[in-house]
Amino acid sequence: MAAHTPTLFASVALVATTMAICLIVAGQLKLRDGLFTTGCGLFAHSFAYVCYTLYGHAPLWLTYGLGNSLLSVALAFYTISIFRIRGLRTPWLFISSLPLLMVVLMVVLIDTREPRMLASSSVLSVQCLLIMIWAYRNAQSGGRAHGLLIVGACISLVGLLMRVVSILAGVAQDMQYDVSNLKQTISVAIGTATVMMFSLGLVLLSKERSESKLHHMALRDALTGMLNRRAILERLSAELERARRAGSSLAIAMIDIDHFKQINDRYGHLAGDEVLCHCVRHLSQRLRTSDSIGRYGGEEFLLLLPDTTAENAMAVVDELRRSMAETPAQFGNLQIPLSFSAGLWCAVPGPADTSDSLIGKADVALYEAKLEGRNTLRLLAAYPGVIDPFLADELKEIG
Ligand code: GH3
Ligand code: MG
Ligand code: MG
Repeated sequence: MAAHTPTLFASVALVATTMAICLIVAGQLKLRDGLFTTGCGLFAHSFAYVCYTLYGHAPLWLTYGLGNSLLSVALAFYTISIFRIRGLRTPWLFISSLPLLMVVLMVVLIDTREPRMLASSSVLSVQCLLIMIWAYRNAQSGGRAHGLLIVGACISLVGLLMRVVSILAGVAQDMQYDVSNLKQTISVAIGTATVMMFSLGLVLLSKERSESKLHHMALRDALTGMLNRRAILERLSAELERARRAGSSLAIAMIDIDHFKQINDRYGHLAGDEVLCHCVRHLSQRLRTSDSIGRYGGEEFLLLLPDTTAENAMAVVDELRRSMAETPAQFGNLQIPLSFSAGLWCAVPGPADTSDSLIGKADVALYEAKLEGRNTLRLLAAYPGVIDPFLADELKEIG
């Protein structure tokens, strides 16, 4: 069962080098995305195993001292990759202090077998533990890649524990790099599994991160950062379904900035963009966490107020309207006054109500608010008798 240990070390080095080249080439040398640092880690891992292969044929400082220092550098690179992939600030000082500590310990203890073995195993164990903790803390929500990193670090810890137990049991010579026995074969197999799991885990973490960024971008409006039309319509379908099932009241409001074209014409499109952002900030800050708002069109916003009665919805939107009219947007030194009109619909949704029909009804109410002179709101309640004759005619057209 025991294989030739130096040959096994050489195969791990080959696997790590191949994966490093693939990652660095596939990552197109983009320093920011974490694949480059993972590739660097794999190169360091590979060189460490090349050093181990030479054990007994070259000086100890090279085969043991440099080998373990490079392995520590590899683990530091994997740790850095976790932070880079998640786009977080990397604690460089802390992460790089461990490989430095390894170098110092190797220099000081190189001529003592058991202490140097204990020291190197301890530093590497701490690094594996840190990978476990940081992989867990920086896990992508709903993702699984961090699981691979945690399992990889666990397996690596088992290998390091085997070393420590052998040293404490007085059989440290069993774990020398030029000895071929079952323990060494298992230890190298663990090394191989660690390389594979760390590299695959980090690649998958990077993939999960990119997918989550794309998902976020697909649902956000590029100018204002708020939910875009697709996202707010998805929310509307979900809220409609929920309100229908629960028999609860749902209010929706179509909000439209008054004479927005004139703002563009008078102050320029950049000022118009700033007015839109100001409007989004103003509205978003004043809503409950259960409410949603999204950009439905150019200067139109769709507001969803779940579990809200018509009376409350009117009060909420009117308060938004009043405060907006009192708070001009700031563009450079300019104060740009603005107001909006809103059309509301509110009811317990029935079987015939769809997202399109509700938006159509809110639009009719908005149209009437505009006709009334703007900076006002109109409610279209789905209760007989509440609809005014003008809206009734419009509704016949929507169906
Ligand atoms: P009303 O009071 O009837 O709502 O009139 P309005 O001028 O607000 O509405 P209208 O539909 O006539 O014009 C909307 C303008 O909004 C036209 C379009 O150029 C502008 N617009 C749409 N999207 C953007 C944007 O992202 N940035 C800027 N600056 N302008 C935009
Ligand atoms: Mg409009
Ligand atoms: Mg408008």
